[in-house]
Amino acid sequence: MSNKRFIMDNDINDLRLWVLQRGFPSFRAKQVFDWFGKGIVDPERMTNLPQNIREALRDDFITDSFRVIDEKTSQKDGTKKWLFELHDGHRIETVLMRYSTGLSVCISSQAGCKMSCSFCASAKAGFGRDLSCGELLAQVAIPAMLVNERISRVVIMGIGEPFDNFEQLKLFFKRINDENGLNLGARHITVSTCGLIPQMIEFMCIGMQVNLSVSLHAPNDTLRRQLMPIAQRYPLKELIDACRQYVDKTGRRITFEYALLSGVNDSDEQARELAVLLRGIHCHINLIAANEFPGGLYKKSSKDRVKSFMSVLEKNKMTVTLRREMGSDIMAACGQLRRGMQETI
Ligand code: SF4
Repeated sequence: MSNKRFIMDNDINDLRLWVLQRGFPSFRAKQVFDWFGKGIVDPERMTNLPQNIREALRDDFITDSFRVIDEKTSQKDGTKKWLFELHDGHRIETVLMRYSTGLSVCISSQAGCKMSCSFCASAKAGFGRDLSCGELLAQVAIPAMLVNERISRVVIMGIGEPFDNFEQLKLFFKRINDENGLNLGARHITVSTCGLIPQMIEFMCIGMQVNLSVSLHAPNDTLRRQLMPIAQRYPLKELIDACRQYVDKTGRRITFEYALLSGVNDSDEQARELAVLLRGIHCHINLIAANEFPGGLYKKSSKDRVKSFMSVLEKNKMTVTLRREMGSDIMAACGQLRRGMQETI
């Protein structure tokens, strides 16, 4: 197997070293790097480079990645979803959502996921491998290039558990901030975790302004263990303690994601239990209409149930929103397109 790196895994210093070793003029490093910011990874399209440098890039790095296997556009709200094939055949999804405040891209952190949440289409398709920092960056730069618009927010909520790929994630945080690269401030990035406590602690100690979102989906351990196997390793008490620490240490508000599953976690009683669990934490609860997918175990809650659940939380003085469903006509929810394609292969 080749030990070449994906071309976008190189930062500007790596490229400076590379041109030096290859005997090319030093200014070529910046030219290559600038193409990354434009979402170009194929040296053939780096039109200001002479042919010998394009060939050298192809020889030394992986450049034949991110083939578009499928592209869908929602007729309802303009959400776009791509299924990309990486050089080694793994497939990942990236979703672009259009809000009045700008474009937001939801990226995958792994090809597949090990966490096995019972309501998730990504989990059903199994785990492939971690994505590299460059593969995370490419999911921001390539969609921006494909639609020819600037991305203003990144959410790491696609396929995979980002904190299970923490080393690459940290590099991504550093690189996306680079003013010569994609130049997106940490406050415009949100990372979502199912609750890997050691990484959450390390994340809060890094001191970055990246927003944190925690997938909760249940107000008690018994139910959470049924829905999310990770809850067997990290009980709710420890998770909530870590969240309190995060808020105390960073002064930032934390978001809790809660997907409403009909007859499973959506009763008024469970809403009250959730309010008690989160009382006193500077937080925001984001309710999500659950994703239904073929072969899935759960149905989404009725509109009346959602309303009632929400109003119990509000009466208990919680800040709560219902996430707008984006791209529901194109299977825009995490893992659905990748899984759908696997089933049809
Ligand atoms: S919900 Fe997230 S953490 Fe859970 S299996 Fe799906 S991708 Fe993994």
